Amino acid sequence: MSFIVAIDGPAGAGKGTITKLVGEKLGLVNIDTGATFRCVALNMLQEHIDIQEEEKIEKMLNNINIEMHTDGKIFLNGEDVTHRIRENDVNGLVSPVSTLPVVRNKLLEVQRNIAKGKNVIMEGRDIGTVVFPNADVKIYLDAAAEERARRRVLQNQEKGIESSYEEVLKGIKDRDKRDSTREIAPLKKAEDAIYVDSTNLSIEQVVNQIVKIIENNKK
Ligand code: C5P
Repeated sequence: MSFIVAIDGPAGAGKGTITKLVGEKLGLVNIDTGATFRCVALNMLQEHIDIQEEEKIEKMLNNINIEMHTDGKIFLNGEDVTHRIRENDVNGLVSPVSTLPVVRNKLLEVQRNIAKGKNVIMEGRDIGTVVFPNADVKIYLDAAAEERARRRVLQNQEKGIESSYEEVLKGIKDRDKRDSTREIAPLKKAEDAIYVDSTNLSIEQVVNQIVKIIENNKK
């Protein structure tokens, strides 16, 4: 039996950082489902496939190989794309791509397979609602859009990527809107998820709060 912690929430709420740290503290395998959508978007860019070309996308998905290594590296068809999938062209395409039923169906299977037999902490948009509706613990991690944009700009700076606050904020708001209004598996809090607002909390405070929630829910 595996133990599953689902962490959902909008872009920039801190899911990536928090999931990694909580996973390390509690010995849970960390799975970033956004990276799987990013790999699909990157593969489309590499193969010059347009979002309307459903048949080509389906064919591409039949041959796609996404690997998530325990050291956090992501491989797409054998190539290390850990950094490449965070670049601007992928940021722009990933959200529209994630609205396609054919993509969501394929990745649902990929995500469930990755977690099989493991104790995992999985982050995304629909983990507690669709991927693992019976997850042992569900957290919805949120923060104000302005704070999320501020964090993203800092993160970019650390990676040497120049970005303007206004542009990042607009990107975040656009992505929020698309992710929460799409027909299939929209971003929304599962009824039984615990809401955590990280706007005014430090990383350490959020980690401690979530560790406590998980420990209280261990059967
Ligand atoms: O988490 P991240 O920002 O890397 O996710 C990229 C995009 O992938 C999101 O904006 C969303 O459109 C999509 N996504 C999704 N379902 C998930 C994880 C990500 O639709 N479980």
